[in-house]
Amino acid sequence: MNIHEYQAKELFRSYGIAVPAGRMADTEAMAGDVAEEIGGKSWVVKAQIHAGGRGKGGGVKLAESVEEVRHHADQIIGSHLITAQTGAQGKLVQRVLVEAAHEIKKEFYLGLIIDRTRQRITIIASASGGMDIEDIANSHPDKVIREAVDPAIGLPEFQCRKIAARIGLTGELMPQAVKLMRALYRCFRDKGALMTEINPLAIVDDNKLMALDAKISFDSNAVHRYPEITSYRDFDEEDPKEVEATGHGLNYIALDGNVGCIVNGAGLAMATMDAISLHGGSPANFLDVGGGASPEKIANAFRIVLKDPNVKTILLNIFAGINRCDWVATGVVQAMQDQKIKEPVIIRLSGTNVELGQKIIDNSGLPFIVAKDLDEAARKSVEAVRRVTA
Ligand code: GDP
Ligand code: MN
Repeated sequence: MNIHEYQAKELFRSYGIAVPAGRMADTEAMAGDVAEEIGGKSWVVKAQIHAGGRGKGGGVKLAESVEEVRHHADQIIGSHLITAQTGAQGKLVQRVLVEAAHEIKKEFYLGLIIDRTRQRITIIASASGGMDIEDIANSHPDKVIREAVDPAIGLPEFQCRKIAARIGLTGELMPQAVKLMRALYRCFRDKGALMTEINPLAIVDDNKLMALDAKISFDSNAVHRYPEITSYRDFDEEDPKEVEATGHGLNYIALDGNVGCIVNGAGLAMATMDAISLHGGSPANFLDVGGGASPEKIANAFRIVLKDPNVKTILLNIFAGINRCDWVATGVVQAMQDQKIKEPVIIRLSGTNVELGQKIIDNSGLPFIVAKDLDEAARKSVEAVRRVTA
């Protein structure tokens, strides 16, 4: 789960990490009020979307007057910002962050990730900040420092001093860097983060170290443990089909193909997607209905899958263990009738109560395409797409 920069900075502030004075605004007028409240002579107006590269995309603007703050806010709010990370359609900006501008002396990169190979939270730091860290890591791997943290002792001061020295944060900057790194580590560990990035971490004004950007992503499977983080969730930034699916206890991920998939079990769902690809097709989604799929759950699955306008056919693949094929079959027949589904539906049932399920399908009088195994089901769904789109 990702959060906005203004939320990440709120969190940073509560951990004592230095960030510019600022606040979120969702109207032009409010942006002006925030600038007046902050005071000073110059401000930065920053588009709040869950994507980076805003600077280059025109989503970060410097303002020299409150009037100019309002003007930039007016231009940015309601626009579709296109950056290297948003895709060509861009992202609708609904809010900006208005902050006090600071004079930048030098930009650094500081991040924390979970290194799965080393099984350690790992610090990544570089004196080449402000740019894409992936690019620096490719072109100048020696300029990117990695330091794993031992979970038994946490992040001690000596380790922070070592990192600070290696990126050139010496003298009066070193104690600031040590304090900031330790606070960032505490925040990361306490809140179940997967990744956090300060790019740029900057020396501003007269030798102050400050986080000018802030990005944090959290483990969606752990986030329920931190209600204060859950409240940061912005549903507008997520695929509405995925949000609705979660509400129905379905595990749905939108993809860009045209064969809708309704499957029970994550492993079988992935195997189904592979089988479709093997036959030259492409899946429109991943969907795991889980165990104990009631007729209602199956109907919801059909509704969500069919919200994707690219879907040309649906493949239902059920291997019933805890599930029962007769429940699933009842759900499919109901969905077909209630939702007046026109797309070809390919059904493969196997496992508990399969004969009963098959009977319900056969007696329904509906034009289902039945398959006896996964391979046949995948082949028939790709053939159905070719027929429909021919
Ligand atoms: P990103 O492009 O989405 O990563 O957005 P950033 O928050 O990193 O902003 C892009 C760039 O704007 C930064 O690299 C800075 O150079 C610049 N910037 C951000 N805040 C300030 C500020 O307070 N003062 C000045 N002069 N530049 C800033
Ligand atoms: Mn940045």
